[in-house]
Amino acid sequence: MIRRQMKLVAMVTLLAGTLATYAQDTDKTTISAIYQNALTSYDSYNNLKELCSKAPGRLVGSKASEKAIQILKAQVGKLNPDTTYLQSYITPSWRCKSKSQAIVYYGSKKESLNVVNLGLSVSTPDKGITGEILEVHTLNALDSLGSKAVKDKIVFFNRAMDNSKTTTFEAYGGAIDQRANGASKAAQFGAAGVLVRSLSTEHYDFPHTGVSRYKEGVKKIPNISISTNDADKLSRINKENTGVKVWIKSDTETIDSAETANLIAEMKGSQHPEKVIVIGAHMDSWFNAPGAHDDGAGCEQMIDVFRIFRELNIKPVNTIRLVLFMDEEMYQSGSKVYADFVGKEKKEHIVSIESDAGGLLPLGFGIDAGDSVINAIQKLTLPLIDYGIYKTGKGYGGVDIAPLKQFGIPLIGLTTNSQRYFEYHHSANDTVENVSRREMQLGTAAIASMVYLIDKNGIK
Ligand SMILES: [Zn+2]
Repeated sequence: MIRRQMKLVAMVTLLAGTLATYAQDTDKTTISAIYQNALTSYDSYNNLKELCSKAPGRLVGSKASEKAIQILKAQVGKLNPDTTYLQSYITPSWRCKSKSQAIVYYGSKKESLNVVNLGLSVSTPDKGITGEILEVHTLNALDSLGSKAVKDKIVFFNRAMDNSKTTTFEAYGGAIDQRANGASKAAQFGAAGVLVRSLSTEHYDFPHTGVSRYKEGVKKIPNISISTNDADKLSRINKENTGVKVWIKSDTETIDSAETANLIAEMKGSQHPEKVIVIGAHMDSWFNAPGAHDDGAGCEQMIDVFRIFRELNIKPVNTIRLVLFMDEEMYQSGSKVYADFVGKEKKEHIVSIESDAGGLLPLGFGIDAGDSVINAIQKLTLPLIDYGIYKTGKGYGGVDIAPLKQFGIPLIGLTTNSQRYFEYHHSANDTVENVSRREMQLGTAAIASMVYLIDKNGIK
């Protein structure tokens, strides 16, 4: 009797082990098929070309952003998802009406500088403004200089990104205060305008934009970004001469209400249609940028997950919901609208996954969730280490999915090799030519594999 029971237990254990091995083998076979499919397909790269050539500079509320929504909707539509719809809403919209300009005057000479408006910058009068240059490297420097030294000057924030950092995002974080808060601070001391050194790891002529904010109640002043090459040049001219002046011109406006939308599409779950896995990226890009890495590539990768699932006949257990967010760059309005919707909808979200780190070589996934979820996902994605996806662990999800944290939804963000990211980010250099189809598709395959593994095995 005891012997028979032992035999039974042994058989059940063996069977369970065999089933587990079988499941792992199926996973490995499917992941291999996903990678083969992704790497040999040109569809998403061609989609990216279409998006960036027909709708570059798709800042929220712009004509290009409306066009982008239609282009992406048509691209998704070709894959016959179960549902596709626009989540429309009204938002303020800041725009650059004409290119900003800057000229430096010293002695009897003048030279024009490569500049671009920073997000939310106000206009100068039509004839522009001229002021003496005051170069500083920190916001705190203005405190010691005081209003007398700063008043009516064009403050020039010229602290470079620290290239000794091995992580470019760390270098970015260490310099971003100048772009984000420099104008607001300089305005408090009576400055006439601000020039900010572009946040780039490269020395070249592309100026980089990005959002800046003014403190409540501060008189807003024009805020312009200058290329790294010209920041070095301006600094040199300022050291070698006295009374160096700069003329700047900025022409922007803010519309109170523009109509825009998030784009949503779903592959319905075969067993649990009420449970959702969100995959997302953002459609908008800066007015000066084709937005190939940021974040056209992310949009096309997520759309391609649908294509891969269809072509490989992978029927998801849960609903896979593609959310292409509007307006990550300026007000994050799309992510707020989607989070409000999730709050009311009350459908269980298993995870949310975002791709917004460029169409660059993928290294893993950052996970913003409790330890047990992180452990489960790490275990689940072990087979991906063979594909170079080794950096999966506690980390950052993404700006667009961040508000979903309030509902306890795990946030997962694709991590890429970001060494070259700040050569492109928020500049006219963010072109399709600077995206490698292979690297982008390795990212697509990693995301599709992650979705497949979580959908099939769960994370509990
Ligand atoms: Zn982005």
